[in-house]
Amino acid sequence: MIEKKRDTPYPPYDQSPVNERNMTISHAALLADMEQVFTEARPRLLRLAHLNGMSPDMADDVVQETMMEAWQHIENLRDPQRFHAWLDGICRNVCRRYQTPDGALHRHFSLSNFARDNERKNAADASLALPDPAAIDPAEELSRQDLATLLDRAMEHLSPDTRKLLEMCYLAEIPQREAALQLGLTIGALELRLHRARKQLRQVLNGELHADAESFGLALDPIQVQGWRETRLWCWLCGKHRMIGLFETQPNERVALRLRCPACFNRYGFDVINSAGLVSMEGLRSFRPAIKRLFQ
Ligand SMILES: [Zn+2]
Repeated sequence: MIEKKRDTPYPPYDQSPVNERNMTISHAALLADMEQVFTEARPRLLRLAHLNGMSPDMADDVVQETMMEAWQHIENLRDPQRFHAWLDGICRNVCRRYQTPDGALHRHFSLSNFARDNERKNAADASLALPDPAAIDPAEELSRQDLATLLDRAMEHLSPDTRKLLEMCYLAEIPQREAALQLGLTIGALELRLHRARKQLRQVLNGELHADAESFGLALDPIQVQGWRETRLWCWLCGKHRMIGLFETQPNERVALRLRCPACFNRYGFDVINSAGLVSMEGLRSFRPAIKRLFQ
């Protein structure tokens, strides 16, 4: 008897034996190798975004969003052989969204949908209900006076552009439309920069200005205080979250690479990678080369 096709492909973390149906095998292979596939596709997607009128900055975000959408909707891909064409199509759609006059609005909605999806997923499994490290918005948590003081101190750690942007939008409270006009940006581009500016500020407050931030009673993220950084690498276990990474000096002075998925760590209690004692990561600052060295 011929079995019916599965309605849904295996989720990425499914360890069940691969069955004979070509489609599932190829999907599984694709998912298993997603990190590599994305790495290879990235230069092409960047060019495509550029051809569609995106600035280098925007192109980077477009590619991120393309990969995120591809990852989330991989089950919609009927023919895995056509993966790259499918990916290009998503990329063009994301570009179009960024280009519309109310692109900012679309982007906002797509991101909030993403957040909602995540909430739903998390609600289904209480152990995944994590505080989102990005949830603390320093600019919104601080009073204007405190923010002014902290921005003064953060001066050396923030680029002049970032500082100016935060000052305009949070201290001077210039409406975003007005600020965009003054800076010669679209609203979408301004929102993106503001998003990055808040992220930078958050990193500085969790790092170099940790003591200052604490004295202002700002809720800090303990993970970031330990020096964990966000990576662009998707979790190898669940495939749903980006991992955070840390180069940690061991008691024996060797440097270990640790990669952790916040959700899987919460669930299983171990890092995805901990190179302690295996390979020294001496002198490395970024995660991809470190992983390469680990698997050499
Ligand atoms: Zn995970």
